[in-house]
Amino acid sequence: MDRDEVMEDLKKKLCIKKIFKNEPMSKHTSFRVGGPADIMVIPETVEEIRTLLSCIKENKYPFFIMGNGSNLLVKDKGIRAIVIKILDNFNNISVNDDIIEAETGILLSKLSNVAMRNGLSGLEFASGIPGTLGGAIVMNAGAYGGQISDVLLETEYIDLEGQIKILEMEKHDFGYRKSYFNNGSYIVLRARLKLVKCDREQINKKMQILNAQRTEKQPLSFPSAGSIFKRPEGHFTGKLIQDAGLRGFTIGGAQVSEKHTGFIINKGGATAKDIIDMIQCIKQKVRDKSGVELETEVRIVGED
Ligand SMILES: Cc1cc2nc3c(=O)[nH]c(=O)nc-3n(C[C@H](O)[C@H](O)[C@H](O)COP(=O)(O)OP(=O)(O)OC[C@H]3O[C@@H](n4cnc5c(N)ncnc54)[C@H](O)[C@@H]3O)c2cc1C
Repeated sequence: MDRDEVMEDLKKKLCIKKIFKNEPMSKHTSFRVGGPADIMVIPETVEEIRTLLSCIKENKYPFFIMGNGSNLLVKDKGIRAIVIKILDNFNNISVNDDIIEAETGILLSKLSNVAMRNGLSGLEFASGIPGTLGGAIVMNAGAYGGQISDVLLETEYIDLEGQIKILEMEKHDFGYRKSYFNNGSYIVLRARLKLVKCDREQINKKMQILNAQRTEKQPLSFPSAGSIFKRPEGHFTGKLIQDAGLRGFTIGGAQVSEKHTGFIINKGGATAKDIIDMIQCIKQKVRDKSGVELETEVRIVGED
């Protein structure tokens, strides 16, 4: 089936209002770049996700899952797939003693605030990360010495057959910015997190300190995807890039941030190609200068 036939099939089977054709991904990524997704679906219930997956399987159409798009670089010709966006429709959260259970579309800022208000410590590191819980689990997001794998008990996910499964913590294959869910075959639906009881004010203070550090050090007023590269062992990425003479270096609308050289920012009108060229250029210059091989942390998807 071609894209239009798949679209018709989806419209028939799903009573969702939010099915879009040729949806510009630049509207859905924190970099504010990216060409159109063939189809974007924003489901509202798990049942809709199940029906959607069954259509995908039947039509053998590729799919791509996203959360808040804060770790994605979508290429300029866009994505030849159905993009499934898991965001604020999957926002439910409950707290029971020191356990939080949440759906994965919840933003980390909201999740860590709920934890704080309930006197639960362990998510302070996450309060300034602009992604969802789902994206954080897939990426094993972390900052300031904490990472999501430190607090995760188990996740619930759905596979292409529509089966809901539970994955225990030790089976997540967590590593530095990677997990069992890396290959994009499963939609993570909810997670249970175990936190530590602590004084509310103390948690709040820690969150404020960490967020003040972010505001001071990171170029938050420009679109970006955060740190573009993983931190190579024994080095600081920002310093390697600075030592290669690249602070403020510009290609088209993409620039190595003057404020934090580990970030590439969209100064205005950047294309994905500008950013990808910049990534290649940084890798080359850092390799030449320091002999270190940088690896991208941001997920690059779509067609050139
Ligand atoms: C200013 C800024 C600061 C940042 N700071 C940090 C930081 O300190 N630490 C850090 O680790 N990251 C940081 N990031 C990167 C990013 O916010 C995190 O990686 C975040 O966890 C991504 O979540 P997301 O919902 O935006 O995921 P997306 O970018 O939408 O997706 C990321 C990956 O997760 C997959 N995915 C998302 N949701 C699901 C789901 N429900 N089921 C299955 N797969 C899913 C996608 O397919 C993709 O592979 C920063 C980004 C920005 C813009």
